[in-house]
Amino acid sequence: KVDTKAIQALDAKHYMHAFTDTKSLGQVGARVIVKGQGIYIWDSEGKRLLDGMSGLWCMNVGYGRTTIADAVHAQMQELPYYNSFFQTTNVPAVQLAAKLVEISPAHFNHVFFAGSGSEGNDTNLRLIRRYWDLKGAKERNIIISRENAYHGSTIAGASLGGMSGMHDQQIGVTIPNIVHIGQPYYVEGGKGKTPEEFGLVAAGWLEQKILEVGAERVAAFIAEPVQGAGGVIIPPSTYWPEIQRICDKYGILLVADEVICGFGRLGTWFGSDYFGIKPDLITFAKGVTSGYIPMGGVLVGDRVADVLIEHGGDFNHGFTYSGHPVAAAAALENIRIIQEEKLIEKVHNETGPYLAKKFGELNDHPLVSIAETCGFVAGLNLVKKKGPTLHECEAFDSSLEVGMICRGHMFGNGMIMRAVGDRMIIAPPLVTTVEQIDEMVGLIRFCLDATLEDLKK
Ligand code: PLP
Repeated sequence: KVDTKAIQALDAKHYMHAFTDTKSLGQVGARVIVKGQGIYIWDSEGKRLLDGMSGLWCMNVGYGRTTIADAVHAQMQELPYYNSFFQTTNVPAVQLAAKLVEISPAHFNHVFFAGSGSEGNDTNLRLIRRYWDLKGAKERNIIISRENAYHGSTIAGASLGGMSGMHDQQIGVTIPNIVHIGQPYYVEGGKGKTPEEFGLVAAGWLEQKILEVGAERVAAFIAEPVQGAGGVIIPPSTYWPEIQRICDKYGILLVADEVICGFGRLGTWFGSDYFGIKPDLITFAKGVTSGYIPMGGVLVGDRVADVLIEHGGDFNHGFTYSGHPVAAAAALENIRIIQEEKLIEKVHNETGPYLAKKFGELNDHPLVSIAETCGFVAGLNLVKKKGPTLHECEAFDSSLEVGMICRGHMFGNGMIMRAVGDRMIIAPPLVTTVEQIDEMVGLIRFCLDATLEDLKK
């Protein structure tokens, strides 16, 4: 048995956690996670938690897949590593590239491998730069992104992202030539409009920004199909078609960051399929291996790949672990599972609609103003007073940290749910069954009641 206190003490002494106040964590002690099976994880004290967040949005096929472990083991024994820098390649990476091309939209025929989503987005910056250079349009050197976006934690990824807390902790606020527009968050920006009207307004911010900086200067627009870490911001149906129209009109490259939406999260292989858009580049990571082994990269559409390849010359970019054979073996087995178990079809036809129905029922709770889903991501807002429309609800004073109170109840009662301010979000594993959705939504309702009781005190 794991000695929880000893591990916590060592953790506090030596381990600086990501996105965490290490000092205050040291005072309470980290929860030590020791095991996972299906959609559940266990801590070192034997407590079971339903993982409503799929780890960090990545555990698509669920924990405990022995066939992925077997594939990794076999590949490690055969060839644990080799690089792709010096005109060499390896079998699993090639097979994975072909598989990714098979499952992605038809105009994707090339893959660039990286070690993470952040590295995938760094890759995009160089691909975009090289594409416009080769097209003889060096002046196209501005990238438009969105506020509250999350595109990774490298300096380039965080600069593309719209999280001010990350910008503040960089030397130099962001790398130059990246500008941001507002997010399509109806609850905040849509007052007096229908969601469809607001979708057009929010997409229009892209056109405004293009005209402001000069259309001939803009290289690309990057966005997550559904903004994840920003709080599961599901855009109105009119948003993406209008964004596509604007990118086409000005000849701007469209980059879909599918690190969360890819590999079935929305009930389609990619979020781009869900929204019917045709990006030029797709960033992927997380679900490609279901998090079993780190891997990320970029699907390079024909528009960009054809120019780079036909022109020739080195693409001066890459990572030690680009096309790692063991990660590729894990990804191949992960994708085989997704296909064999028809997980995407299940989310699309059965469990996604069921989650939408059950999660939507939480709208009747006195604390909840908007409970909505899109495939297997979902979010609800905790509000002080409900109103006849979303915009007439009264928010809690943020100092009350109501989201954190609710998150604490969820943890205490055996489920991981994330709080982004007062918006509570989930992204369960794609293997979650209808019975487990009942369990999940039941737990959420129970914890909403407990949060309400706390607020009355
Ligand atoms: N892009 C998006 C949309 C993400 O959600 C994330 C991580 O959460 C990243 C990029 C960064 O991926 P990684 O943490 O693998 O670098």
